[in-house]
Amino acid sequence: MRILIVEDDPALSRQLAETLSRAGDAVDCARDGEEGHFLGDTEPYDAVVLDLGLPRLDGITVLRRWRAEGRAMPVLILTARGSWPEKVQGIDAGADDYLAKPFQMEELLARLRALIRRAHGHVTTELTCDSVTLDTRSGKVTVSGCPVDLSAHEYRVLRYLMHRQGQVVSRSELIEHIYAQDFDRDSNTIEVFVARLRRKLGVNVIRTVRGLGYRLEAPS
Ligand code: CA
Repeated sequence: MRILIVEDDPALSRQLAETLSRAGDAVDCARDGEEGHFLGDTEPYDAVVLDLGLPRLDGITVLRRWRAEGRAMPVLILTARGSWPEKVQGIDAGADDYLAKPFQMEELLARLRALIRRAHGHVTTELTCDSVTLDTRSGKVTVSGCPVDLSAHEYRVLRYLMHRQGQVVSRSELIEHIYAQDFDRDSNTIEVFVARLRRKLGVNVIRTVRGLGYRLEAPS
């Protein structure tokens, strides 16, 4: 999944980016409200972590603009501790969840997972297709109960397809959701990841839809 972090505190921003990258996400960081608003308006994020106290443009304004522009991605806001008016304002502006600073990284990860899950209509942390199971909490993938070792990028591709199960996902959509913005993107690598996934999973759950992309579905 591709996540945008809008946070002006460099240490916290770095910590968030490292935590999310380790959890298998592609992460872009913005240091002020204007840059954050621009990225959220132009790039397809699966979720956003948005600080409210930001230079140039405050978080509430950024959020209101996104929602007014029809940007529907899940947004988790970071609020000052004990400031309930900020939380109310944030939720009214279109936030899906909030965390008060300081917070535990584990809680942030859990809340983001829940937001992404709900955005795709899933109710559990485990995604299943035929004999393949992907646990978004532990990052473990199994086929018929046997663990499968995936590289970070193979995992990202599979997780995205699992979330979009039954729908056709184009190669360009996959690229936009598994790579951060500054990453050197090469659409041919998607084919390589899919080929490796098919080999490693050993079951034909990733279908090629000619000219359109891929679809994950149970073999009929
Ligand atoms: Ca701040």
